[in-house]
Amino acid sequence: MKLPKKYKPQEAEPRWQQFWEERGLFRFDRMSDRPIYSIDTPPPTVSGNIHIGHVFSYVQAEVVARFWRMRGMNVYYPFGFDDNGLPSERLVEKEKGVKATEVGREKFVQMCLELTKAYEDEFKVFWKRLGLSVDWEENYSTIEPRSQRISQRSFIDLYRKGRVYRREAPTLWCPECHTAIAQAEVEDAEHDSVFYDVAFTHEGRDLVISTTRPELLPACVGMFAHPEDERYRALIGKRATVPIFGHEVPILADEKADPEKGTGLVMCCTFGDTTDIAWWQEHDLNTRIVFDDQGRMNELAPGYEDLSIRGARKRIVADLEALGSLKGQRPIQHTVNVHERCGTGIEFSVASQWFIRILDIKDEIIAAGDKVEWCPLYMKVRFRNWVENLKWDWCVSRQRYYGVPFPVWACKDCGEVILAEDDELPVDPTTTWPKAGKCPRCGSVELEPERDIMDTWMTSSCTPFLNLKWGEEDSRVERFKKRRDETEFLMDLRPQAHDIIRTWAYYTIVKGILNEGKVPWRTAMISGHVLRPDRAKISKSKGGGGHAPSAIIEQRSADATRYWSCSSKIGVDTMMADEAFDAGKRLTVKLWNASKFAILRLEDYDPEAPRELAVIDRWLLARLSEAVRRATASFEECEYHAAVEAVEAFFWHDLCDNYIEIAKKRLYGDEGYDDAGRRGAQFALYTALLGVLKMIAPVMPHVTEEIHSLFFAEKEGVESIHVSDWPVVGDEWDDTDAERAGSLALAVIEGMRKVKSTHKVSVATPVSRLTVACDDDAWAMLAPMTAELAAVSNARTVERVAEANGEFVTTDIDGVLVRAELEPENDA
Ligand SMILES: [Zn+2]
Ligand SMILES: [Zn+2]
Repeated sequence: MKLPKKYKPQEAEPRWQQFWEERGLFRFDRMSDRPIYSIDTPPPTVSGNIHIGHVFSYVQAEVVARFWRMRGMNVYYPFGFDDNGLPSERLVEKEKGVKATEVGREKFVQMCLELTKAYEDEFKVFWKRLGLSVDWEENYSTIEPRSQRISQRSFIDLYRKGRVYRREAPTLWCPECHTAIAQAEVEDAEHDSVFYDVAFTHEGRDLVISTTRPELLPACVGMFAHPEDERYRALIGKRATVPIFGHEVPILADEKADPEKGTGLVMCCTFGDTTDIAWWQEHDLNTRIVFDDQGRMNELAPGYEDLSIRGARKRIVADLEALGSLKGQRPIQHTVNVHERCGTGIEFSVASQWFIRILDIKDEIIAAGDKVEWCPLYMKVRFRNWVENLKWDWCVSRQRYYGVPFPVWACKDCGEVILAEDDELPVDPTTTWPKAGKCPRCGSVELEPERDIMDTWMTSSCTPFLNLKWGEEDSRVERFKKRRDETEFLMDLRPQAHDIIRTWAYYTIVKGILNEGKVPWRTAMISGHVLRPDRAKISKSKGGGGHAPSAIIEQRSADATRYWSCSSKIGVDTMMADEAFDAGKRLTVKLWNASKFAILRLEDYDPEAPRELAVIDRWLLARLSEAVRRATASFEECEYHAAVEAVEAFFWHDLCDNYIEIAKKRLYGDEGYDDAGRRGAQFALYTALLGVLKMIAPVMPHVTEEIHSLFFAEKEGVESIHVSDWPVVGDEWDDTDAERAGSLALAVIEGMRKVKSTHKVSVATPVSRLTVACDDDAWAMLAPMTAELAAVSNARTVERVAEANGEFVTTDIDGVLVRAELEPENDA
């Protein structure tokens, strides 16, 4: 078999992708007893196009999946789409130019289903083109009935365990998305703002506070000073009048009021921030919510009704000024909390919401996080910090349409909560009557369905359950159950990006502990982001930065794109660097060319024929053994980058630059080399090249498969490199003598090359005499290789001298000096 002159990835890659799919090579084997390696893949949010950041992190995890498959594991690699919740709703609203509130629930949900389905089909084509070895038969979407059933089952389980409560409580609220949100969805943003000094009054005396939110004056319910602040001690317990609105509020003392800040007086509104909430609770203050859930002022702010937050602020500032109550203003930059999905400033509202109680189990959550092997390790600290700083229970209800409903009705007469039975799931209580038929406590048939839907993280935190078909009748379940009983982990690997440690990783761990009493996965592999040249994160919400991944693959090939994805350490942010793509392309070409040469020399290779290994063959195998060991250990720790480095170093340097050059003549079967010697070189070359191809296969699955199929598949009797065995190191390959001898030979060759490059002649330039000065031990090792040293140097003779007289070159190896006498050009 001869390899074609050139490898054409654009033609070969789709061909192999089709082959893998037709053969079902990456399907989970339900009948097998082999150990399972299961992956809890992030279901991409269906909210727009795939961007290069997706490619980057999905490839990193997929490479690890391919590694474990070659290690003989029964890899369970399902794929999902997160297509419910706010991101998908916003996509539909944007693309269809509608508002959910105007279209109505049923029609809007239908629009969401159709549009997300179209996107998912497109996504799937793309992932296949990238060469992901996913089992597409194990596909889920978070909105499909089974996912809804499992999410509702999880909720009911938590309810029965006393973890769920419903309460009127101050809640983080997004006025743009019109829904409650969770602490994890809040981001900090730097905003330009203005500090206004506003005078309240008490018996004719001005009491000045500073605020960036004058529009909250009608919501003011108290005024605070520090208990030790002499200036205001006499006022504590008295009342102050709010300017414009005229209502009176108590003046109170609390240590959270900072005497150093502004005048030392602050107002407390329902609600401006979390301190307001704390004061409101601790001092039992009134509630004055002045904005409705659309972010418009209500009747508690007479004269300002229907104004937006911004509009109200402008009018109130003008009116304060007219009244003489505005005592000063100055611009400031300050940090505000915004909703991560839309960038809108967070408000607070008091509404009835569903919560999952978690603040009392922070320690358990941290302990579970400690059991996870985080790659890289420092990501564990981020997780721990997040949990330690939690201040809210998990608010899981959303006032939206497209998502998983709560399987709950409430009795209008006695308030009893009625949960759906498991065989009713999935259920939409707004369209279905509970099986129970009536309130089990008072017998009333006046039941009110729950209209809120679940937070999207409530569903995506169930991904291990979705993957393991939790509580479902399914043949896979038994298999997983057995293994689940044996370990404390539900699955093996969770790959995800670092920005969602505080959401997805955290919520999944919470669910794992609360629903199953288990840690969701053994390993969390945390990827970095792709940054634009201005170091901003590339993501779909901010535009892909002109890096449409499918165009990149068409231009660069999937293998080069995958190589780039693996060109930085796990967890580290990266840039779109041409160099990494180019290096990937160079490696493809080099693999092809080296294989082309090798396969020609291996045509008659017979592994059974008697052979004799030369020192340099044993050196190559020892080097290979070292590369296998390093690559294996690195892949096991999700350090794909270090693995590639180890294999590349061996391939470029040891195999191509040195071994092939040294063993060339023996491989050609030139005169003076016996058959057993040639077979020895064939054995070393075959083993090393196949080893390299296998170890590069996870990262560059296409070019390695092409080479493998053209030669090795038949010899090895295996249809695909991706289901072949990972190279194993034989003890007999570890040969310190051969390693020492090999490095001496390389030192001599390096010295010879140095001389030639100093004289600016090609490496093929003939040498009349290659002289080596070294000690007896070194020469004892070099002597058996003089023929090969002569061959690679194109030297007539290779000799040893006792002492280095004349122009010798120092080599990397101590004590070895080399002198190469070039033949005059006219002699050559
Ligand atoms: Zn929002
Ligand atoms: Zn009742």
